[in-house]
Parts: sequence; C-alpha cells; structure tokens
Amino acid sequence: MTLRLYNTLSRSVEDFVPLVPGRAGMYCCGPTVYNYAHIGNLRTYVFEDVLRRTLRFNGYVPMHVMNITDVGHLESDADEGEDKMEKGARREGVDVWELARKYENAWLLDMGRLNIERPEIICRATEHVPDMIQLIERLLERGYAYATEDTIYYDTSKFSDYAKLARLDLRGLQAGAGGRVQLNTEKRHPNDFALWFLKRPRHLMQWDSPWGRGYPGWHIECSAMSMKYLGPTFDIHCGGVDHIPVHHTNEIAQSEGATGQPFVRYWLHGEWLLIGSEKMSKSIENFLTLSALAERGFDALAYRYLCLQAHYRSELRFTMDALEAAQQGLRKVYAVRPDRDPLSDASAYADARAEVLAAINDDLNVPQGIGLLNRYGSHRLWCEFDSVLGLSIAERAEQKDEALPSDIAALVERRNAARKARAWDESDRLRQELIDRGYEVGDGPNGTTVRRRPI
Ligand code: AMP
Ligand code: ZN
Repeated sequence: MTLRLYNTLSRSVEDFVPLVPGRAGMYCCGPTVYNYAHIGNLRTYVFEDVLRRTLRFNGYVPMHVMNITDVGHLESDADEGEDKMEKGARREGVDVWELARKYENAWLLDMGRLNIERPEIICRATEHVPDMIQLIERLLERGYAYATEDTIYYDTSKFSDYAKLARLDLRGLQAGAGGRVQLNTEKRHPNDFALWFLKRPRHLMQWDSPWGRGYPGWHIECSAMSMKYLGPTFDIHCGGVDHIPVHHTNEIAQSEGATGQPFVRYWLHGEWLLIGSEKMSKSIENFLTLSALAERGFDALAYRYLCLQAHYRSELRFTMDALEAAQQGLRKVYAVRPDRDPLSDASAYADARAEVLAAINDDLNVPQGIGLLNRYGSHRLWCEFDSVLGLSIAERAEQKDEALPSDIAALVERRNAARKARAWDESDRLRQELIDRGYEVGDGPNGTTVRRRPI
C-alpha cells in the first residue's frame, strides 16, 4: 500500500517515493530554546512524530534530524528585533548558554512525556557555526550573497525560484508596506535576509568568521545542518505553516543557491493549534504548557490523543472541554479488553488492518484511522497501530485480572499489616508509595485494594 503525502511544493497529494529505497530522510525545524515549548509547538512535533512512525510502519528506516535553535533567532523572522535567546536570558537573569540548556532539557522531557520518539540526530546551532560559515562562503563565491557594512545578506533577486514554495507575489511584496517589506536602506531588495551579522558588540554569542566576529542569521542553520546530515537533496522537510513564506522559502534559496541541486522533495506543514480564535503563541502570551495541563490533572497522552483526532492540515481549536473528552476517550481505549476480541478471525483482522492503514497512508488521516479503530474495538488492532499512534496502549491497558507484580503485592501486604497494627504513619507512607508507583489505592472490607491507574 502506497504512502501518500500532501506536498506543499506542488499543493497536491503525491505518492511517497524515497531517494534511496527503504530509507526516509527527514528534517524538522526544532525549538528555539528560550522558553518552555507550548502545546501549540508540541502539536507540530506530535505531527512529525506520527509521520516518522508511519514511515517506519510502512517499512522505511527513518533518518530524522531536528535542530535546536540556540542562537540567531530574532523576534521577527525578518531579521528585526532582539535575539530571542538574549531576551530570555535577561528575563531570567541567567547566562544565555545556561538558558539554552535549561529549555532544551525541558523540551526533551516534554517530548518524552508525549511519547515522541527521539530523532536520530538532534543538533544544536551553536555547535555548527563552521558549517554555516562554509555555506555562506559558498553563496558569496557563487554570487548569491553580498556584504554591507554590518551584515552579509542573501540576494534573493539572484535566485529565480524564490517564490516557488510559498507562491509569493513578489511584485506585491516589493510594493507593499509593513512587516517583512520594511525597507532597510542597506538591503538591496526587501526580501533579502541576513546570513551573518557583524559589528554587534553587544550580542553575547559571537564567533570569528572570514568577515569578522559576529553571529549567524536564523535561516542558515537549517540549510547547513540538514544538508550536513542528509545530503544536498533529501526526502522530507517539516515545520509549522508559519515557516512557508519566510523560513523555508529562505532555506530553499540558500541550499539550492549553494549546491545548484534540488533541496527537498516533499515539504510537509502542520497547521495551528488555536486558543479562542487565535494562534497559540509565545509572543502574545496566550500559551499553555504541558506542565500546566498536568497541574489540572491531564495526562500528556490525553493531549497527544487530542492532537491525533484532528488532521495535521486542519486547525485545531484547543479547549479544556475538548481535552477532557480526549482523556475520557483514551480511558475507553485503555479499557478495551484483550479477551473477547471481535476480530479473532484472521481474515477479518487482515481486512480491518488494511482499512486502518489505508486511512493513515492517505496523507496521515489518523482521525479516520482512530474512528475505525474505535468502531472495531479490537485490542490487538489498537496495539498494532499503537506503533503509529504512540499512546502506550499495551502498557496502560487495564490489568484487572492480572496478578499484581510481586513488589506491589508486597507493598499491599505491608500496608495491611501496618493498618492492623494501627501504624497510621507507616500505612500512609505505603499508600503514597503505591500511588507513586502508578496505582489507585482504596480500602475495601478485606484491606487495601489497588488498581493500576489507567491514565
Ligand atoms: P519555535 O520554537 O517558535 O521556533 O516553534 C517551533 C515549532 O512550533 C515551529 O515548527 C512552529 O511552526 C510551530 N508552532 C508555533 N506555534 C504553533 C501553534 N500555535 N500551533 C502549531 N504549531 C506551532
Ligand atoms: Zn528550520
């Protein structure tokens, strides 16, 4: 069964044919580590994780690369404003490097809580500055870049395909006003963008370069790191839809300008998570983190399940009620019993499996796949597709009839003994230990009762 994916480049759903049979190279723009990831960012990473898992389910070995932006991302994607890292460091009164590690670790924890598989390569921008410098030298040599007093710019007028990904109306942009087209007197064209900033003595992160000390622009890191690990041409590049008109457009210009070869074959973009009618965003401070959801009693996997119930190319409006419904829905999934499987017949199972896979392979129509899985109600089928869904179904399914693990049974015994001896402190301590180990604890007529917490 062929996997089909919507390619932003062609604006159509295409068969996925990898460059190297059996392998799938993918690059995903990662976090700027100046603050906690919000659940909108995390929606995009969940989508990318589902893509990676789907590729593997279809027999491809993924080579998944994700960057950590720890320098050079200014407040506006069009080279305006302050470096987000420096602003974050000032806000918290810490060193920029410390800030970067703190939020990188927090991000890795969030990824783990959401069962997002670790990409094969996670690479930090600050550790790839020499690769960026090399790429900029190449662009200068080939006439795609020029130097001004304090910045090396990419010359977008030299790259005839500049408008291709976003289908930009360049004439409109030239004439328009505001945001991206603000005229900078040193720039030759309004779309030109910074490759390297020079003569910024106040910037905390600086490197030597052939043009003097300075720091890289944001876009160059993704061109440099993706091509370093995946080659000049690779299969899939992902990110949020906001990246289409600027960041990814600039990545194509840089990479194809430098190599003269096509950069990416399939561009995939995830849609927004909305809150109210607005995009969730750090800059407008309407954001929620995974920890904020946990404080309200929600499991990270309930949020993952909520994300899976919307197609990645549709906006998803977040509400607490929707999350509550997802948590209830996931409890039901965990409660599907392995005995009494309605698909015990082998050919019925194979047909159902093919139907679910057809949905998922149709541009990741996971919501439809989940609808089918709910309809079939087969524990085995849920568990098989859990390698795409990532909901820990086998581990968390209710284990009512199963014997308790011996160490848990021992804790229960000790608690019963403590209660008999009226050693209330000890009994409370053991109760807490059982809770910490993931059990719900009750007091029945025959003593302590425990049940594995489903979620
Ligand atoms: P950032 O850390 O701001 O560079 O963003 C990391 C990723 O999250 C990018 O791929 C963005 O496109 C994506 N993103 C940002 N805001 C949202 C949102 N509200 N919904 C979905 N994805 C988002
Ligand atoms: Zn990027």
